[in-house]
Amino acid sequence: MLLPGATLGILGSGQLGRMLALEARRLGYRVQVFSPESDSPTGQVADREVVAAYDDLDAVAGFARGVDVVTFEFENVPAATAAAAAAHTLVRPNGAVLHTTQHRRREKDFLAGAGLPVTPYAAVDSLPELEAALKRIGLPAVLKTAGFGYDGKGQARINAASEAAAAWQAIGAQAAILEAWVPFERELSVVAARGADGDYRHFGVVENTHAQHILDLTVAPAAVPPEVAAEAVAISRVVLEALEVVGVLCVEFFLAPGGKLLVNELAPRPHNSGHFTLEACATSQFEQQLRAVCGLPLGATDQRAPAAMAQLLGDLWAGGEPNWAAALALPGVALHLYGKRVARRGRKMGHLTVPAPTVEEARARALAARAALTRETIRPHA
Ligand code: AMP
Repeated sequence: MLLPGATLGILGSGQLGRMLALEARRLGYRVQVFSPESDSPTGQVADREVVAAYDDLDAVAGFARGVDVVTFEFENVPAATAAAAAAHTLVRPNGAVLHTTQHRRREKDFLAGAGLPVTPYAAVDSLPELEAALKRIGLPAVLKTAGFGYDGKGQARINAASEAAAAWQAIGAQAAILEAWVPFERELSVVAARGADGDYRHFGVVENTHAQHILDLTVAPAAVPPEVAAEAVAISRVVLEALEVVGVLCVEFFLAPGGKLLVNELAPRPHNSGHFTLEACATSQFEQQLRAVCGLPLGATDQRAPAAMAQLLGDLWAGGEPNWAAALALPGVALHLYGKRVARRGRKMGHLTVPAPTVEEARARALAARAALTRETIRPHA
């Protein structure tokens, strides 16, 4: 068990690492981050930021020697990096979890092999294989790169057989997976944790809406029948236990017509659909990650109030600095900014969370707060 005062090492330096580091510091831990760039969102709030490339294995080894446990905030860390860290310190979750979840084909094979529901899919390594797979799987379908994909990057929808060649080129003619298109009614997720002692806790089922393939809004809890919620939680438990995760993992689902759940993908770390836990739950997903990787008892996950989380993308900066005062003037709005200097289109710059008496109110207030950011005039204080 690593008690407060121990040093947490984080591989990856974005906003997830930042919020993990802030929670770790609140609990009296030291934090070091391994980052490919300086002044990163996590580096800004850590005790130490080691700036090196993930494939600089000497730097990884030196980093690992200086910390008591290494965890990830980003799953696309090369397997060799995780192995280099594991040679010198405890790594949680283990490298096999990354290996499975950073590759869509391995991930789907794992899910299907565990008997969990997924959309029909096929591995595709060439255009003729894609054409054959389209005949089996049918249309529409979506072609995705097997590796290093997130937020819809490396994906092409195929509506007609004649589009196969263009889709193959669009994803860079590389190892891929073809999936049957799911005409989903909703997208749901479960953020859950597994402790070093095997304890399993979850934050319930939340509903996500995406814009430009990026998570835009989460409402918690999701308005789904109790049996659907129970099944999603049970599936998540199977995933965490089968992968022997020690840490937090998010399972993303499609809710298909007829109430059928299909697992879309896994993220072996805190997830943006779990940001609401910072304000709305007894323990946040970040504290839960810390507790799990340090071998502490997992915290209670009770949700104190319904909540909504709206992501703030760089697009909001198009007309100048957002009107922070206007959003903060609204009651109950918790603003999180990630310390990123440059606001690019589609870049996650921050989020806001609003707990409220009902999910509908939370959603309305979160959307109103975000809309207020791009209102032009800042009213001076009365
Ligand atoms: P992913 O990166 O796989 O999570 O995909 C990003 C988003 O694309 C998902 O959240 C869905 O909105 C959409 N999407 C991905 N795969 C499918 C599918 N097989 N059927 C329908 N929509 C999909």
